[in-house]
Amino acid sequence: MPPVTRSEVEETDFLQSLFSELDNNAPAAPSCSPTRRRGIAPQPRTPRRAEKRVPSPRKTPVARGGIESESNAAGRVTRVTQDVDYEALMEGVEDWDWDDMNSDCLSPRKSSPVKPKRSKFSVPDEKRKGDCATRCIVKSVEERYVSSRSEKILTVSVVRTKETRHVVLKDDWTHTDVRAGDTINVIGVWSKASSPENDHMTITIDSKHNLFIHHPDILLTATALSNASQCLRKPLLSQMVRSSSDVTPSLVWGNMLHEVMQTCLSVERWDDKFINRCIEEVAQRGLGELLRIDMGIDQAITEVKARAKGIKAFSEKYIAPSPKPGAYLTNTRAARGESSLLAIPHLYDVEEDIWSPTYGLKGKLDASVEAVVHDVDDCSTPFAKAAPQVKKHSSPMPFEIKTGRAVAGMEHRAQTMLYTLLMGERYGAEVPSGLLYYTQSEEVVRVPAARNEIRALFVMRNEMAGYIMRRLRTTALLTGLEDDDEDEKISAAAIEPFLPPTIDDNRTCGKCYALDTCMLYRKAVEEVVDDDSEITDIYQLKTGHLTPDQAGFFKRWEALISLEEKDLVRFRKELWTMTADEREEKGRCFGRMVLDASYRPQPSIKPTSQKEGKIHRSTYRFIKATSGIASLLSGHMGVGDAVTVSVEPELLALARGFIVELFPDSVILGVDHELDEELVADRLRSKRGAFMDQVLFRIDKDELFGGMARIRDNLAQLFYAGGDSRRLELIVDLASPRFATDSPTTELESPLLQLNEGQRRAVQKVVCAQDYALILGMPGTGKTTVIAAIIKELVKAGKTVLLSSYTHSAVDTILSKLDDADFGILRLGNLDKIHPAIQKYTLAAKPLAKTIEQLEQQVMSPPVVATTCLSGLEISLFRRLSDAHPEAVVDLTHQYRMNSDIMLLSNKLIYSDRLKCGSQAVATRSLSLPNEKFLRFLHAQSTCRASPCWLTHLMSESCKAVFVDTDQVPARDSRVGDLVENKVEAQLVYQITECLLGCGITQDQIGVISLYRQQLKLLSHLLQDRKELEMLTADRSQGRDKDCIIISMVRSNSDGLIGELVKDWRRMNVSFTRARSKLIIVGSRKTLQGAPLLSEFFDLMDNQGWILTLPPDAHLMHDFAAARRNTPKKRPAKEMVDDGTNEDSAPLRGSEGGSVKRSKNVGASEESILKGRPLLRDVVNAHK
Ligand code: SF4
Ligand SMILES: [Zn+2]
Repeated sequence: MPPVTRSEVEETDFLQSLFSELDNNAPAAPSCSPTRRRGIAPQPRTPRRAEKRVPSPRKTPVARGGIESESNAAGRVTRVTQDVDYEALMEGVEDWDWDDMNSDCLSPRKSSPVKPKRSKFSVPDEKRKGDCATRCIVKSVEERYVSSRSEKILTVSVVRTKETRHVVLKDDWTHTDVRAGDTINVIGVWSKASSPENDHMTITIDSKHNLFIHHPDILLTATALSNASQCLRKPLLSQMVRSSSDVTPSLVWGNMLHEVMQTCLSVERWDDKFINRCIEEVAQRGLGELLRIDMGIDQAITEVKARAKGIKAFSEKYIAPSPKPGAYLTNTRAARGESSLLAIPHLYDVEEDIWSPTYGLKGKLDASVEAVVHDVDDCSTPFAKAAPQVKKHSSPMPFEIKTGRAVAGMEHRAQTMLYTLLMGERYGAEVPSGLLYYTQSEEVVRVPAARNEIRALFVMRNEMAGYIMRRLRTTALLTGLEDDDEDEKISAAAIEPFLPPTIDDNRTCGKCYALDTCMLYRKAVEEVVDDDSEITDIYQLKTGHLTPDQAGFFKRWEALISLEEKDLVRFRKELWTMTADEREEKGRCFGRMVLDASYRPQPSIKPTSQKEGKIHRSTYRFIKATSGIASLLSGHMGVGDAVTVSVEPELLALARGFIVELFPDSVILGVDHELDEELVADRLRSKRGAFMDQVLFRIDKDELFGGMARIRDNLAQLFYAGGDSRRLELIVDLASPRFATDSPTTELESPLLQLNEGQRRAVQKVVCAQDYALILGMPGTGKTTVIAAIIKELVKAGKTVLLSSYTHSAVDTILSKLDDADFGILRLGNLDKIHPAIQKYTLAAKPLAKTIEQLEQQVMSPPVVATTCLSGLEISLFRRLSDAHPEAVVDLTHQYRMNSDIMLLSNKLIYSDRLKCGSQAVATRSLSLPNEKFLRFLHAQSTCRASPCWLTHLMSESCKAVFVDTDQVPARDSRVGDLVENKVEAQLVYQITECLLGCGITQDQIGVISLYRQQLKLLSHLLQDRKELEMLTADRSQGRDKDCIIISMVRSNSDGLIGELVKDWRRMNVSFTRARSKLIIVGSRKTLQGAPLLSEFFDLMDNQGWILTLPPDAHLMHDFAAARRNTPKKRPAKEMVDDGTNEDSAPLRGSEGGSVKRSKNVGASEESILKGRPLLRDVVNAHK
């Protein structure tokens, strides 16, 4: 087949519809370990295994009866069946948690069998800790030498008061790379300067006094920091590149033991029977992980039981109101004769996630407990006996569980010490030390918050934050550059090194889990030539295979990914740098919200562990505390968006989750942490020292960071030694893809005969492909059908297929075409987001696997696995490969969606006349009204006397593509914060929609599209009774089609400002092709035609006579309220327009639960990581 030239827009359209309906709800990630690495040293990464695991013959499927049977010999508790969290294994973690180091918080507390008992916490006045952090901006930095020791004098401005002060850095603090403009936190007491020429308040930060936090808005995890002592580069690398590293048995046993211990602490039960039951449940829930390490449940139970032996003894010794004799607390720093006893009378919380912008730290505590300590000083000397002195004290303490062998290593101590700070801040109390419990030695170690160590940790924290900041700063500098200056951006990004140098220690590096990544960055990004360092050999081994071109490719894409991270960081810090009111102004927060105690979630949105178990543990409704302020609907926050729940200003991110439902004055959230209002009030009381009658929460839009680390890992995997070298050749070196010459599908089976010639060619091309084939399908050309046919052919040929797309609905639409398939299909993903008709392919729908073999059978045997994916590189990958190898591309040009008028528009504007109607029926398709009488009813109630009036004209069957010009109508755009809307235009769109509906068109036949989120909110408010009507952003319209599409252009002003339209006009064009029978575009001609980009469009519309100018009072002519009251019953119009040739239309729509509900589309995140990012945009913008 001769290669054809395609327009970029055509490809863009295809690519975007291929990854259609960009799902804002943070699509599921590909495989990723849900496992914590808590307490266990990470293992060196092994190269990715290319081969797929095949079930071994001994693991034959078990008879269904066996699987379904609930009874078993041990008489195990069957309730467990509800709790198996396969999603955790199969789908990977939700990416909103990826930013935490070492997967530290990826494995949440599983539902406990009994309601946990929590104690309230209140601090006596004398123990309340004052807030002594001062946030400042550095004005200037001066370095001087005092008796040959360097000092840095910072002139700073206090953020709150704007007052000028001085900060003197001494000792190891002087190494901090502070620069003018930096934000710092100073913790300590200021004093008046002594020198006569300087009367500013001053503070000296040296090895003995005070703390200095550089870039406090960068929250580093305590685990990252505790790993940094050996090599600073290591935690930074693992934060940037998150690998789904191998799971080891000891890791799995450790995690299980954590869970058991936390459950026992929560419910205060420590008897053998209970512990054993917990272990069995935990092992059953961990089936997925067990499969990965190839171990059975029984083995797991044995292993965990062996490790849990000490739990009961622990409780007998330590769980008590006051210390028992022999309840020793190890203190490695104790002096001779000193000993301590410990009791733990209360648990406050488990898995408490604390963010501290005071310290620039965050961490997730295994448990937060009340600890009672008796310090016993045996005052006896070798010469004289004396009565021991006992000092008693109690305080809240972090309780860290360590399941590994090592005891009280530096890393554990460091982590625990940092937790004392976090806990102190959250509880508003002194936390003098933390507790480390070693399950193997059954020892509890006290870790005092020692000044010296904490100082050293903060010096290190500051250095790490400095490196992260360099990366962000460099990219921030670059945002001024135009998009076409990409190369400039990338070379500029390399100005400052953003990683510390390698430590070049053969032994340490050889064992380092970040070795592959480290060496790759060294070679490709830092371009180090190393032939004489201590690690030359390792370096050669890990990077010797990379060609300069390959290294350059990695560097370029690495930089692109970094560019994207910038905004996310900026937005997140607004949680503490902006008040709720300020942020609400920007539409990124709901302030002054109160918990609705009367709310009981409906079963349909209650979490189950198989659904959103990890992030959706509890469901709450919050209501606006004060009425009469702006509706919650007017802002950037919408259903599906990730959020944090905080109490301003002291309790940040108490819970994280996402918006389940949104109303003008209330919001329903699914969150990961229980929100006990009394407990929160109690904590506030202890921090504020005052009572309050109502807790006011703020709900902030959260940013999904970690996706970028995952994308980096996907990229890096190609370049590692021992990686997938064939893929590297194909993608980076652009090696030619190979195709088999003898086509295995010469005898076409009947299903293929139903395809048109182009579609058949596409199927054949794929079947012959040995590396890859590319199918470029323009809108409505039957891609779904072709993909389904391809899957069938591949399975027939004995191949396995991974079906993947950005969105759940795209995946499900294709699967719905495989209904008659006689092979297994496994659909992975969150049940909530999978179409009901497709849920039968999920693990949740299968009998619960009780053994590894059963699970393996369910997971490994289906030849087709379908899931959503998260990747930004694929779109450009398509372009890269199709540019290099046009011979690998097949085009689909016959479309079955648009009638010839609508197709004419897109053919002229986008597809250079290459699109053809698949049949005469398609070409002449029109929207006939089942109930034209409605127009008469309407006019009987209205002042409109024109005949035919504008509305009647739009309804006519012959009006198939039209621009409705609002210039004479007072329809002007206006702003709500930084959002744009057009109220009168919304009225017009509302009337057109209502008129169509009144005339018998059904809601699911109509789609309303606008680029402007605020406009969609306005419209969804006007059309709030029309629950089945879809409101779409231009992006979300991808992959959809509707009989009638109404587009609201919004921009109308005398300055000719068309804002985002300039950027998005091409995408807007693409949404024209969503319409099957009628396309109505509403906007201001004067405003829009000023832009040269749009002139082609107006010329075409003019020539065709497709512009309808509205009369000045168009919006006032028709009274819909009256007409609706008097409307007779309608009959559905669907059958009158659906001629059955619509191959691409989603089969999953209409009453059967169908396509995405309107509420899900409205207000979804515009800034989510998949949106508006350069990786997508570079395709769109490349040839503007
Ligand atoms: S390989 Fe060596 S230099 Fe690189 S991160 Fe690991 S320990 Fe640090
Ligand atoms: Zn009229």
